Amino acid sequence: MDYTSTRNSKQKISSSEAILRGISSDGGLFVPTGFPQISLEDIRKMSKMTYRERAASILRLYLTDMGDDVISDCVNKAYGSRFDCNEIAPVRKINEHEWMLELWHGPTLAFKDMALQLLPHLMISAKKITGFDNEIMILVATSGDTGKAALEGFCDVEGVSIVVFYPQDGVSSAQKLQMATQKGNNVRVCSIRGNFDDAQTGVKRIFGDKEVVEALDRKGISLSSANSINWGRLVPQIVYYFSAYAELVKNGSIELGEKINFTVPTGNFGNILAGYYAKRMGLPVNRLICASNINNVLTDFFHNGSYLSKRTFYKTISPSMDILVSSNLERLLYELNGRNDALTSEWMKNLKETGRYEINAEMVKSLNKDFWADYVDDEQTKKTIGQYYNEYGYLMDTHTGVAQSVYDKYIAETHDLTPTVIVSTASPFKFAGDVLDAIGRHEECDEFGKWDKLSAETGIKIPGPIEGLRQQPVIHKDVCDKDKMIEYIKADS
Ligand SMILES: *Cc1c(COP(=O)(O)O)cnc(C)c1O
Repeated sequence: MDYTSTRNSKQKISSSEAILRGISSDGGLFVPTGFPQISLEDIRKMSKMTYRERAASILRLYLTDMGDDVISDCVNKAYGSRFDCNEIAPVRKINEHEWMLELWHGPTLAFKDMALQLLPHLMISAKKITGFDNEIMILVATSGDTGKAALEGFCDVEGVSIVVFYPQDGVSSAQKLQMATQKGNNVRVCSIRGNFDDAQTGVKRIFGDKEVVEALDRKGISLSSANSINWGRLVPQIVYYFSAYAELVKNGSIELGEKINFTVPTGNFGNILAGYYAKRMGLPVNRLICASNINNVLTDFFHNGSYLSKRTFYKTISPSMDILVSSNLERLLYELNGRNDALTSEWMKNLKETGRYEINAEMVKSLNKDFWADYVDDEQTKKTIGQYYNEYGYLMDTHTGVAQSVYDKYIAETHDLTPTVIVSTASPFKFAGDVLDAIGRHEECDEFGKWDKLSAETGIKIPGPIEGLRQQPVIHKDVCDKDKMIEYIKADS
């Protein structure tokens, strides 16, 4: 399988190169040149496999220059003892037509672990295969969960260093604590005075700064990305869509070949894009329901075809979705316009220069065959969390709460009772204060007290990775202005 850039289809590179480089020098994102097909028979076989075997069988199709043994080895290292359940990505039944796919059983309690526990192993393999011997410096802009997951994945990995930027006031207390206490000799963590989009823009600017890139290269350092613009982040995410489907087949909840919906709480469009790729590979998917909070730029785009990034940025109780520039949408646009690199470039240029771009009515129509989009505010999200806790005894985090609320709207509007998997992206303990509010148990106390209270109220044990934070000293206190990120990188590298 070759990879090309969304902004230059003439470019052809291997999967290892795509993973090492992260982003194309023309500013585009790397995409596979085709979608390998999975048959129903393959899925039936998958239903008898472990998560690791399912992962290896999907990754093999995309990482064709890596070899089966290397892939199995990476997968075994990634999805081993650091997850707190054997299924890795368990599916829980909520009611007759709804299931939760829990993607937060890894070391940082958010779905980012699904990819970031694997990415470092893929990068090390990619370095060996391509004979690349520069040190890799990973730059991360995070709205909270990516940062910690990347730190956990890359800490003390040889030949790699990592720098994480997060918005000073744009992450939850638990998220901040997780990052500020990170150990490791190759890690730096810096909060910026700005929001997530500022952090993401700053990181993209560093990648595009020839002077910085060349200066680092002279020191034997190459930049790469652990954000979901990296192909190595996306491909592991395709796996759990197949895995969820295979689980439902395995336990008799659906017939092999029956179509299902997925509802995905969406920010940077990485998670749901992986679901779209799974559909293109032959997974029987009816609708992908794109759920947003009041930063509803995607809802508007799906409804009327104009992407308008210049709008008020709101801080919400689902901070990992507080995003106005959804980077991975570029990959979907590229598929939507028939892999037209010139048109994709033009749209992205318009976005950069004017804060908007438009697709035509025909494209909007085609988009809405695969997707359905809506958004909810914080109040509705909390109401839904409370309601599902009371009705089904199921406790969900604020991001999953957004997905559930939007799915409830979907049913009210379409009356479509197709079996649906809600993609649950974080443990409720990562957002304990808001979750307590949602179940009517507001608590004025510090973060640790909130975990205790949530655990006492629900009978759910505080997850180990959170519990462990109580004893950890705060190591990282750096702060920088949003336009000083380049200087921060230059200093001390
Ligand atoms: C990152 C994140 C999201 C959004 O996922 P995208 O791939 O950016 O769309 C949703 N929920 C949680 C908890 C996250 O960490």
